Amino acid sequence: MNFSKSEELHKEALEHIVGGVNSPSRAYKAVGGGSPVYMERGDGAYFYDVDGNKYIDYLAAYGPIITGFNHPHIAEAIKHAATNGVLYGTPTQLENKFAKMLKEAIPSLEKVRFNNSGTEAVMTTVRVARAYTGRTKIIKFAGSYHGHFDAVLVQAGSGPSTLGTPDSAGVPASTAADVITVPFNDLDAYKEALDKWGDQIAAVLVEPIVGNFGIVEPHEGFLQGVNDLTHQAGALVIYDEVITAFRFTYGSAQQLYGVEPDMTAMGKIIGGGLPIGAYGGRKEIMEQVAPLGPAYQAGTMAGNPASMAAGIACLEVLAGEGVYEKLDRLGEKLEKGILEKALVHGISITVNRLRGALTVFFGEGTITNYEQAEATDGEAFGRFFKLMLNQGINLAPSKYEAWFLTTEHTEADIDQTIDAVGHAFEVMAA
Ligand code: PLP
Repeated sequence: MNFSKSEELHKEALEHIVGGVNSPSRAYKAVGGGSPVYMERGDGAYFYDVDGNKYIDYLAAYGPIITGFNHPHIAEAIKHAATNGVLYGTPTQLENKFAKMLKEAIPSLEKVRFNNSGTEAVMTTVRVARAYTGRTKIIKFAGSYHGHFDAVLVQAGSGPSTLGTPDSAGVPASTAADVITVPFNDLDAYKEALDKWGDQIAAVLVEPIVGNFGIVEPHEGFLQGVNDLTHQAGALVIYDEVITAFRFTYGSAQQLYGVEPDMTAMGKIIGGGLPIGAYGGRKEIMEQVAPLGPAYQAGTMAGNPASMAAGIACLEVLAGEGVYEKLDRLGEKLEKGILEKALVHGISITVNRLRGALTVFFGEGTITNYEQAEATDGEAFGRFFKLMLNQGINLAPSKYEAWFLTTEHTEADIDQTIDAVGHAFEVMAA
């Protein structure tokens, strides 16, 4: 495949845009370097780059594009918003409609608020939890990503009950000192952290199904255990459902496991491809937020009509008959096909899959926490990524990301992808 125009554009981008990209995960640093492909147009499950190459896409823009690119119902909603004045700075009916849709789909949301990104949504839940509890410290799980505000750019200290250290330059040590990081799926470590810091903890941030060190499900009883222990300590449970809301079911991960958090942060899918964040939860907690309460959160673009219209349209598509069954069926076919090819060519992999999302880890053994995901073979993934790209299959350029299916993928796309996987594994085994 010829990538010459992408390479030229990347050279130009490097002159003007830091690192050539507007989000670091878009660079190919984690897959051995090189110029990222520059996409020009997306349609359904496919997109087309500036060199005229066509790809079956599994990146789905890191999650939001669950109904494929250019879905007619969503495109129409965005077109209408574009010609209807775009932005007013006043409330609109769309916000009411969308808030009601979210509440109906996710019962723990007694009140919601819209903002502009997953980062903003999670950041505000932390502020509100601190306002509500009058406490400062938070707990998060190692390897989870919650956006790019200071309090979550913190890495674990030397053990589950030690305070964190900054994971990015510019994050003050004083901020990191308010964050404790424990391993996912390890209730004993969680309890140890609470035993030590429990009376200072405002909230725990949980990705109920992890999407950021691959797709990793919670062990049976883990989420309920976290809920019980957190509440015993007088702290709040915040679910970061930025990836998981509407990814696996019409609703959220909390419904899949029957565990309710106090607050939930969302983003990605609920914007139908436009910028969005939203958070919500128990009424008395949400009423801490201005103008009712003392916790401030605002936004010029918050609840903007275009994002509202696209989000409503996206949920309308997802509410259709058989959507999640189809995603599961295609996901299962893809998983089986990948595992079969690995067996044929003697490649050691582990596939973690839930419905229409999966991660292929290079290495043996189950992956249930970040330490295990970290130990998988990144170099092998980098080779695999490029071999797939060269066959017109676009994956996320990192061993920690998921492959996301969309409603627009077909059985034939899956067959073509499995063939490409077979070829990639054959080359890797040679
Ligand atoms: N939370 C989770 C679980 C995410 O995966 C992400 C982004 O990937 C975020 C929060 C941040 O969302 P955004 O990139 O919209 O700010």
